[in-house]
Amino acid sequence: MAKQADKRVIVFDTTLRDGEQSPGASMNLTEKLEVARALELLGVDVIEAGFPITSQDDFEAVRAIAKEVKKPIVAGLARCVDKDIDRAAEAVADARRPRIHVFLATSRIHREHKLRKARSEILRLAVEGTERAKAAVGDLQFSPEDAARTEPDFLARVVEAVIDAGATTVNIPDTVGWATPDGFRRLIEHLFEHVPNIAKTVIAVHCHDDLGMAVANSLEAVRAGARQVECTINGLGERAGNAAMEEIVMALATRPDAYGGCWTNIRTDRLYPTSRLVSRVTGLAVARNKAVVGENAFAHESGIHADGVLKKRTTYEIMDPKAVGVAKSRLVLGKHSGRHQFRQRLKELGFRLSADEIDRLFFGSFKALADRKKEIFDEDIEALVESEVMTIPETWRLQGLQVATGTGGMPTATVELEETETGEAVRDAATGDGPVDAIFRAIERLTDVALKLSDYQIRSVTAGKEAQGEVRLEAQYGERTVSGRGVSTDVLEASARAFLNAINRAVSREGGAKAPTKRARRKRRT
Ligand SMILES: [Zn+2]
Repeated sequence: MAKQADKRVIVFDTTLRDGEQSPGASMNLTEKLEVARALELLGVDVIEAGFPITSQDDFEAVRAIAKEVKKPIVAGLARCVDKDIDRAAEAVADARRPRIHVFLATSRIHREHKLRKARSEILRLAVEGTERAKAAVGDLQFSPEDAARTEPDFLARVVEAVIDAGATTVNIPDTVGWATPDGFRRLIEHLFEHVPNIAKTVIAVHCHDDLGMAVANSLEAVRAGARQVECTINGLGERAGNAAMEEIVMALATRPDAYGGCWTNIRTDRLYPTSRLVSRVTGLAVARNKAVVGENAFAHESGIHADGVLKKRTTYEIMDPKAVGVAKSRLVLGKHSGRHQFRQRLKELGFRLSADEIDRLFFGSFKALADRKKEIFDEDIEALVESEVMTIPETWRLQGLQVATGTGGMPTATVELEETETGEAVRDAATGDGPVDAIFRAIERLTDVALKLSDYQIRSVTAGKEAQGEVRLEAQYGERTVSGRGVSTDVLEASARAFLNAINRAVSREGGAKAPTKRARRKRRT
């Protein structure tokens, strides 16, 4: 089917705003920039970079992303109030293509209980907010929050009014994940029938997955004429998340017959690498059976299926794994591999590292891993890069670990950390209920940072007895949820690395290295 211009669907990614807002998914500035660069490479049309009024961090992140990316439009979110709009305008000012995204709730339940405003007042505010934002930035998107639960006729009046006020995109959000595919399609059709000036704007949709229908609802809206979908990588987002970009994009690419030939500009072979990147920077694992990007998405276990795929791939595979960028696991490197081979493989896996970083990785962790593990797979290399290069600033680095455990005795861990700012080593020991508990306690004593563990998972990076273990954990640090990740052939060491990663993450958001505490100083002397 030929690609028609009026069938193009704009991909608006909100991984860095709605996605980042979800528990455990917070990212620091370095990580946000990394994700923004990956989104640009992926071919995303609009990047919603944050909600500038909410914090100085968010403001700085939006501003940095606006300066960093060249091709995509960079949007900043704002409530429909002056100070939000002005702050968002300031944050996106340096973007080549800036956008402000203003929202105001329109549903009865939000009007009566949250805003305590009548319909007429909502209309007036929506128009005033749109005009104010429009004066700052030509590209202006308006969202009637909770549109899916708004009376269709009132919604049509709001949409018409904000288009008249200059909104170039009007987004219809199902903020609470309430819509069904049929009902949502009819709502979009209703707008096309009842908003006389609708041709002057792009209709967008933003669906939440509370009932598992975000992707289906978005696709139905596209059938009804919506030409922008808001989505996130891996379906990250508030509560059950947003519509998953990889699913929407591949549904359109795989079934043009079902969606009238609608298409996106996404480079589908970057979907899998981008999914992995977002998973590692947020610490939120992707379910194995997740559509398109899950580990099992292209695995065939049953003999009949596997046999069929070998004879002809399309017997049981509707998408080519290569089309979404899944690199098949294969033996790549070993102890005798050279630096050139290593560098080449990193490039093929999509990592863009400096010569220094490559050298540090090759002579450091790669050599060490090759000594412990004969066969090094792509997943091992990814794990190395993730734990060595693309992490948050390290206030502390693991130098040594010794654990004594066994039946009857009290598990004891001795941990040595380096305080990176000063280069000084600190060492302490602790006992615990088990070896992992002992390690965590020793690290807490050394760093003087207390975390409350809420989740701890361990898995192997590849198959095989000598495979590397990956530990992912989630913990409470005061009000915040922080995640941590560590990889090693030794699962206790992986646990220590994951816990330390979470601590580094916790303190890095507080504005860099934490000053050594009295207790840490005392420990240094002993
Ligand atoms: Zn949302």
